[in-house]
Amino acid sequence: MGLMDGKSGLIFGVANDHSLAWHIADNLHREGAKLGFTHLPPPKMENRVRKLAEPIGAKCIVPCDVADEDSIAAAFHQARETMGPLDFFVHAIAFANRDALAEPFYKTSREDFLQAMHISAYSLVALCRIGLEHMREGASIVALTYFGSEKVIPGYNIMGVCKAALESSVRYLAAELGREKKIRVNAVSAGPVRTLSAMGVSGFSKMLDHYPEKAPLARNIEPDEVGKAGMYLLSDLSSGVTGEVHYVDAGYNIIGW
Ligand code: NAP
Repeated sequence: MGLMDGKSGLIFGVANDHSLAWHIADNLHREGAKLGFTHLPPPKMENRVRKLAEPIGAKCIVPCDVADEDSIAAAFHQARETMGPLDFFVHAIAFANRDALAEPFYKTSREDFLQAMHISAYSLVALCRIGLEHMREGASIVALTYFGSEKVIPGYNIMGVCKAALESSVRYLAAELGREKKIRVNAVSAGPVRTLSAMGVSGFSKMLDHYPEKAPLARNIEPDEVGKAGMYLLSDLSSGVTGEVHYVDAGYNIIGW
């Protein structure tokens, strides 16, 4: 018996096998979940995801740009057609203009600020709003965040502000969706992991060097540790947990010096 037997859900944010969403998907698959995946609309993005998702028996692989309401609606609709009402989804999406991330935060343009917020934070609200009718009562939602929401991390800049908005959205969504449909909403706050988006953060390699020096476990995290934590929050093991930001960072966030 797998922990996710009989459950099905949609994964937003797999770019390749380094993606944190992929590590969550892998754990969900091993525990028996049926999975659907989204990719950005261009066909070359589809091929990247298809190569990973087909071997684990993905039930659907659908285009979705979270900046586009119709695209979100179509993705949920297609997922429901093939898998029935969903038990979970994973939001592992972030985007900011690389040049904007490299500039001092105070120089962020209105356009770059709004674009980053739109794709990295508002998208969770949009997925919940549009996806709600396709979710089963008691479903679970997980988003991915980072400690730069709380403290200033050099180079994280606008993305830190987006993650603060995302984490606050998790709490408001948890409060409302719990009452409305017993749906839980949580976030995993991951330590730095080398992925495509992480490489857009200037000074990311310094973050990787810094964690082993400061974190209680004296190391960086393994991406599979994010995968296991995501699976826990999506499974009934965490049935009493909602609105939380769960750290998977080798303890880095508790250190004050
Ligand atoms: P990743 O593999 O690059 O995943 C980011 C995903 O977001 C990609 O699949 C990307 O698609 C997708 N995306 C960007 N814009 C989109 C849009 N408009 N519509 C739909 N999808 C879009 O990087 P990752 O590190 O695993 O990131 C996943 C999440 O973890 C992000 O929220 C990130 O902030 C968070 N996180 C990462 C770390 C870390 O150190 N890596 C630490 C803490 C939290 P394309 O590749 O096709 O553009």
